[in-house]
Amino acid sequence: MSDMQKIQGKGIGRGIAVGRILFYKKVGRQVSRTYREDSDAEWKRFEDAKEKAQTQLLKLQEKVERAAGAENAAIFEAHRMMLLDDELNTFVKDIIRNAKVSAEYAVFVAGEHFSELLSGLEDEFLQARNADLQDVIWRLIRILNGVEDAQELTEPSIIVAEDLTPSETIQMDKSLILGFVTHLGSANSHTAILARQMSLPAVCGVAVDPSWNGKIAIVDGESGQILLNPDAALIEESRKKQQQEAAESERLQRLKGKPAITKDGRQIAVYANIGSVEEARGAIENDAEGIGLFRSEFLYLEGKDFPSEEKQFAAYKAVAQAMDGRIVVIRTLDLGADKQADYLDLGHEENPAMGYRAIRICLDRPEIFRTQLRAIYRASVYGNLAILFPMIISLEEVRLCKEYIAKVKAELKEAGIPYKEDVQIGVMIETPAAALISEVLAKEVDFFSIGTNDLAQYTLAIDRQNARMESQTDMRHPAVQELIRRTVANGHKAGIRVEICGELAADTTFTQTFLDYGVDALSVSAPFILAVKDAVMHTAS
Ligand code: PEP
Ligand code: MG
Repeated sequence: MSDMQKIQGKGIGRGIAVGRILFYKKVGRQVSRTYREDSDAEWKRFEDAKEKAQTQLLKLQEKVERAAGAENAAIFEAHRMMLLDDELNTFVKDIIRNAKVSAEYAVFVAGEHFSELLSGLEDEFLQARNADLQDVIWRLIRILNGVEDAQELTEPSIIVAEDLTPSETIQMDKSLILGFVTHLGSANSHTAILARQMSLPAVCGVAVDPSWNGKIAIVDGESGQILLNPDAALIEESRKKQQQEAAESERLQRLKGKPAITKDGRQIAVYANIGSVEEARGAIENDAEGIGLFRSEFLYLEGKDFPSEEKQFAAYKAVAQAMDGRIVVIRTLDLGADKQADYLDLGHEENPAMGYRAIRICLDRPEIFRTQLRAIYRASVYGNLAILFPMIISLEEVRLCKEYIAKVKAELKEAGIPYKEDVQIGVMIETPAAALISEVLAKEVDFFSIGTNDLAQYTLAIDRQNARMESQTDMRHPAVQELIRRTVANGHKAGIRVEICGELAADTTFTQTFLDYGVDALSVSAPFILAVKDAVMHTAS
């Protein structure tokens, strides 16, 4: 085809995707007031949008009904009813006619108006309807803006977006995503990590264009190349590459069940990094010897409010049981920086990566921390759980964390709720401060887990989200390597084990170096486990 376009970006996930593009546009939470003379035309746009919304909601209702039963799908029926509400319709009509504004602005104003009314009510049930009303209002605004809703994908697609946040990514239907292409983002951003965990190709640093919506593309997650409107021969070639990759993963399958032992007989544990209960399945399928990092904050990004103790308990228990006695390291929430949820309302910060995040939030808001620790300890009796604290910079923080743990244990004991006494406690070494005081920290905990993503970010003073600076993020930089080496040495001096759970753990060009340092375990996204095992088996330590 003559209109083929070749675009070069940065490959951040592996594999190749071939398929149709869905351009994902965000709608800001503000709609500007636009003058429209032709009120009839605007009213017609509104009516059409309502019809489209009805169709979307009906599809969703059917999809959820099939997957989770009629009870869970009922909410979409309620949304459809809201669209028919007389008061809402009259309000929108009046604004369109009297103020001569666009349909989307009229809908926006209606949303604000009814939201104010609902939140002023005493009745909690009606107050709660406010969230549903907002869903309906923003669905209409998205439709009026011609924006596709990637959270409601209907066919397998390549998601193209200016930027994707972890919370947006996590809410999409994974079974319908073929790959990601974004303008913003970098190899160590959490969206890239999610793509790797889903075993999907991803490319960033691309000047994406909404006109790509609906076009066929080939996305190479390794080379970073994107082909728009490829001809049949190129599609065929990509299919062949997909087959070669499948053959390589077939070869690696044969390593399943075998321990990762170096040529000179040293055994290294290869664990999985996960962000959800579902991913534990992928960990098991890929032969993980345990979960080295459960990024629990993703539980907090899925919903519209903090996950309750029960919800967390259920998740930790499910993973503990699924792993059947193998270790499961649950990292306490690491929200903040790029991991934001609307309900968190953390406020604006000039440098959120160096701001109010992770353990700093937990120590500042004990009710959040306590809920999570209770859930973890309650789940501890169902398997082999361990706790990991993120973003530690001082001994005091570790001691405070341990005090919280002691309090939670005492509470559970008092209430007669079973828990395990000897849950292992670890800290992430992901700040230069923690690495430099690792000798002191090692005496306080049972294990270290080195987070190379943040450790490199803070050591090199290069924002891991900043695509422009990415080429200068040198993981071989002697400062980064020295901090890793020192952490392992200090950990071993105190007799504790040291793991690496940052993305670098999956880079097999580093396996020899890490084994030379004496690292005990490597924790990687599930699709990389067998390749890392293979690398360990080809290495002498
Ligand atoms: C890290 O910083 O290396 C790490 C594993 O944590 P996260 O990527 O979730 O910040
Ligand atoms: Mg980190």
